[in-house]
Order: sequence, then structure tokens, then C-alpha cells
Amino acid sequence: MLDDGTNPRKRKRMSSPMEREGAPATSASFKKHEALYLEDGNVIMCAVNATGEGIAFRVHRSILASVSPVFADMFTLPLPSENESHEGLPVVRMPDQADDLEMLLMILYHKTALPSDHLDPRMPHAVRPILVIACKYEMENIREQIVSIVKKAWPSSLQCWDRMEAEIKAMNRQWHQQHDCARDYSCRDPLDAHLPGPVAAISLARDCDIPEILPAAFYHLSRLSMELGPDGSEHDERIQRAYFFHGERTAKWKSLAGEDYYRLFVGRKKLREAVAKEIEAWPKDYHENRIAEEDLFEDCSEAGIHEFVSRIKGSIRTNQDTLSVLLQFIEEADTTTLFCCDCAWGFIEDINELRARVWEHLPEYFDL
Ligand SMILES: [Zn+2]
Ligand SMILES: [Zn+2]
Repeated sequence: MLDDGTNPRKRKRMSSPMEREGAPATSASFKKHEALYLEDGNVIMCAVNATGEGIAFRVHRSILASVSPVFADMFTLPLPSENESHEGLPVVRMPDQADDLEMLLMILYHKTALPSDHLDPRMPHAVRPILVIACKYEMENIREQIVSIVKKAWPSSLQCWDRMEAEIKAMNRQWHQQHDCARDYSCRDPLDAHLPGPVAAISLARDCDIPEILPAAFYHLSRLSMELGPDGSEHDERIQRAYFFHGERTAKWKSLAGEDYYRLFVGRKKLREAVAKEIEAWPKDYHENRIAEEDLFEDCSEAGIHEFVSRIKGSIRTNQDTLSVLLQFIEEADTTTLFCCDCAWGFIEDINELRARVWEHLPEYFDL
């Protein structure tokens, strides 16, 4: 976004270059970045990487100013005479990690691309530093690109959620064929490791202000077992691999904040209670108030309806993935011989409405 002076957000002026502790004393002792020390660049940005090494990037003021009003502001300020310079160019000491700055500049200079697939396993942890830095320097375009992919992985509509679930299910069916994995549970490359993690998504939502992704991330977390994955309580690798073979998902439980555990447990309980209550209120049969031929009800027995409802209740109690359980029963209602078409349609309508309500109330259940 170009600055037209109307941006109401407060902007930090970066008039004085900031120095990090342990940064090399002079810009001459910074190592020139191999790909980003451009001959015709007109500003030198220096930053220190995680190992304490100073890295210099020679880039273009116009490019940075065009994508960031913060940089635009910084470059319009007259450079004080005592300011550092190198090879006749102004030097800006950046407070950011050199590695993070490198990732951002690589994208700006089209030397690397942002992940474009919402199921990219690099999402969201690999884009996190870029997103943080893009927010800091108000690089709206880059921020929006990343946020839109993150939102796709943690959708805010049930329709998109269902579509993504079907996509992952299909991937899972083909997964082991792709690496000729034997059926002896020897798979060392589970699909789970290639899908975005919910705990990282929750922390990204909080740190980078993307609250829209929280309901889907919490729902996903609420259906996972705490036994699986590197942070899980199950230490028998063979058992873990057996689960992964069937597409089980994991979470980095040790990185989840205490208050989010509380949200998770309370939310899971509230969700199940709400669903159980709604199911209790369903009609015993759906014949009433319907205009239909008497003989349509021929195959319909109260016992069949009762059996169907108790199976739904049982599955809700034993399976944490309520939305998926309900979806399965929609399919079953469509094909069952337990009751008549009228009752089938009644159940399908009610289950659909229940799923929609569960999704709608996720922020309430999980206190988001
Ligand atoms: Zn495999
Ligand atoms: Zn019926």
C-alpha cells in the first residue's frame, strides 16, 4: 500500500538505525549476502543472524519504499551526517534477524516464492517470520498473500472445511502407494508430517492478528489424541506408526499454552453436550406434518429410528470428531433400510442443521 498520508495507523519512524547486541562494530565487517548484495543497490541493510554473524544486503530504496510505508518514511528522512555509510551508500542497521530479513528480501526480489498451497507443511511455521516482519513494516501485499493461504488451511466456513477434509482423505488413500509403503506399518513418512499443524496456527493467529483461523484450528485440535506424535504419551514407535499408517493426525502438544488447554477441554465438553442435547430433541419420527402417501411409511418402524439415533449418540460419545461422525450419518440415512424416505429426509435435514450450528458456535464453545 502506498502512503498517501491518510493511513490512520500509527507508524513507527525508524529514524535511528538500531543496533543489536554483539553486532559487528563497523559495516565493513558484515558479510555481503551472496544473492542480495546487488551491484546497483542504493542502500545497505545490515542485520545479525542467529549465530551472531553480521550480514549485509545491498538493495533498492525504491523497491522497499514501494512495498512498505514504514521504509518509505524512513528513506524520506534526511540522513544525519554522522550516519554510517559504506562504499558511499547509507547503511541501515536493522533490528531484525538477518535470516528473517533474508527470507523477506528473497521474496521481494522474486528469488524465492511464498508457499502457495494451503496444505503445504511449511505452513504456518516457515511463513511466520516473514509474516511477522511484513506486519511490522506494513507490507500489506505480502501480508495478505500469506494470510489468505493460512486462512485456506483453517477455513471459516463449514463448506470449505468439508472440502478440505475430503481433499485430505483422498490424499491419505493414495499416500502410501506413492512411496510403496508396505502394509506392515513400517511407514516412516506419514502424511501427517506433510500437513499444517494446529498449535503453530493458533500461535500465529494470536501473534499476527488472524483470529478468523482460530475456530477451525481449535476444532481440529479438539479431535486429536494426545497419545500420538513426537509430543504424545505413546512411546512405542510401532504403535505410533500403525496409527499414522491410517492417517491419524498429531499436534505439538508441548507448545500449546496452558490457557489454550483449558479452552480446549472446556470447549470439547461444551460441544458434545450441545450436540447430545439437540439430538435428544429430535422428533421420534418425521411423519407428522408431512403430506405423503400412507404406503411410504411401510418400511418405517419406531425400532429402526430408535436404533439409528442410538448409534449416532454412541458414535458421538466415542469419536471426538463430531462433525465427521455427523457427516457419516447423513450418508447412512440416505441409504439405510431402517426407516422410510420421509424419515431419511427428516434426519438429513436435522443433521445438516446440527452440523451448521456446531460450526457456527465453535468460537463460543472454545471461548475465542
Ligand atoms: Zn507410507
Ligand atoms: Zn418414516
